[in-house]
Amino acid sequence: MNVARNPGEKAPANERIYVFKEIYQPLGAGEAADQAGRCLSCGNPYCEWECPVHNYIPNWLQLVQEGKLFEAAELSHKTNSLPEICGRVCPQDRLCEGACTLNQGGFGAVSIGSVEKYITDTAYEQGWRPDMSRVVWSDKKVAIIGAGPAGLGCADILVRNGVKPVVFDRYEEIGGLLTFGIPEFKLEKEIVARRREIMEGMGVEFRLNTEIGKDISIEDLLRDYDAVFMGMGAYKYMKGGFEGEELPGVLEALPFLINNIRQKLNTLPAGEAPQSMKGKRVVVLGGGDTAMDCNRTSVRQGAKSVICAYRRDEANMPGSKREVANAKEEGVQFLWNRQPVGIKQNADGTLALTLVTTRLGEPDEKGRRRAENVPGSEEVIECDHVIIAFGFQAEAASWFDAQGIKTDDWGRTVAPATQTLKYQTSNPKIFAGGDQVRGADLVVRAVYEGRQAAEGILEFVGVW
Ligand code: FAD
Ligand code: SF4
Repeated sequence: MNVARNPGEKAPANERIYVFKEIYQPLGAGEAADQAGRCLSCGNPYCEWECPVHNYIPNWLQLVQEGKLFEAAELSHKTNSLPEICGRVCPQDRLCEGACTLNQGGFGAVSIGSVEKYITDTAYEQGWRPDMSRVVWSDKKVAIIGAGPAGLGCADILVRNGVKPVVFDRYEEIGGLLTFGIPEFKLEKEIVARRREIMEGMGVEFRLNTEIGKDISIEDLLRDYDAVFMGMGAYKYMKGGFEGEELPGVLEALPFLINNIRQKLNTLPAGEAPQSMKGKRVVVLGGGDTAMDCNRTSVRQGAKSVICAYRRDEANMPGSKREVANAKEEGVQFLWNRQPVGIKQNADGTLALTLVTTRLGEPDEKGRRRAENVPGSEEVIECDHVIIAFGFQAEAASWFDAQGIKTDDWGRTVAPATQTLKYQTSNPKIFAGGDQVRGADLVVRAVYEGRQAAEGILEFVGVW
């Protein structure tokens, strides 16, 4: 209790706003051991329960404290396929660290996420690789559609159980939104590339630049593989439904973020111009992680000003509190309780965005209080770009009907966790997990579902 919480030194805002680099510095061995030593080893570790993959947190903290790094790496991979990535991008304040007993009395939670990333980062540097020596290989192979967290979680469990996973993705790199969504100031792309190297070393095969339904048919996969897992994410862009959304200068969040990432990766497709907010007045609409990433990407591109407008108050924002705080430090101005009602183009091509003030009414079906417009509260904001970040929904692929795959009213694939073969869809040979099944959510939950679905698949193909 004499040792303070230390999640890793944070780069000062006036330096980090110029670079696309992770803002938290890694912990050194001494710092990691000190943080691990802060764990009270609660009899009932609440952190484990709140962690969606139920990591053995107190156990690997103890191994770190004892300097047993390779053992800690093996143990952390028993429950999580992407520990160094979750350690970076999980909203720990809502999950493991939010449940840490040290929060009571104001001691500050153990920096669980930072220690989790330290374990794999450092063990890898020292030569650790997953122990595959006891794997007994079967003759089964499974096609995985989507190399995002769900697909990677599924591949990890399959390959550790001797089943060959072949992962198909339409993009040129693995990671799904880890690569083509989440910006480098939260997750540098070398970390995802390193995970690819680890997984290829384990026997996972990736076939990239390959879209199922276009380059290869689902029928081909069903013919050539013993089972199929779909982790195709949720990509249907949610619109605001107000006038002016189609105007030039009004941008969708994800293409904007991907364009920026591809500029850094040097993989912009021929014909796609690099986009920049340099010198522009930007307004971002939305209050989730995607909105925060658009705010902070615009800042780093040199925007003249960045305003983020959200229809509820700060306490009811869906995004990580840590990322909102980081955005504020980086100069983003927040307008809470504001709803967009229309955008017009001025004669000089700039935009006039009309917002109304909202007040919070009765809770909606998710328990969050509805935002109601206050009559006569309109205000107009002059700007150069509006970026719309209202989120994404899952949707059925063109081949779902022919394959008998059911979706619900929200476009989510029906693949229940609570059935004999976990995450099996209404087509017995096809399983699914991640955002495609839950709707847009978190990396760690997608990893969990991919891993759980792999267990269903292992039973289905007769390996378990
Ligand atoms: P995805 O990551 O979307 O991966 C799906 C993959 O399937 C993609 O690579 C796609 O190309 C591929 N695919 C789809 N259809 C086909 C096809 N027909 N053929 C071949 N390939 C196909 N979560 C956090 O926990 N922390 C964060 O900080 C965070 N920040 C975010 C920031 C942004 C901008 C966004 C959009 C999301 C963020 N999330 C965050 C949410 C998180 O990224 C997702 O919940 C997670 O990536 C879902 O994993 P998935 O594997 O289900 O889907
Ligand atoms: Fe915490 Fe996420 Fe790691 Fe679980 S996976 S211990 S929630 S950082």
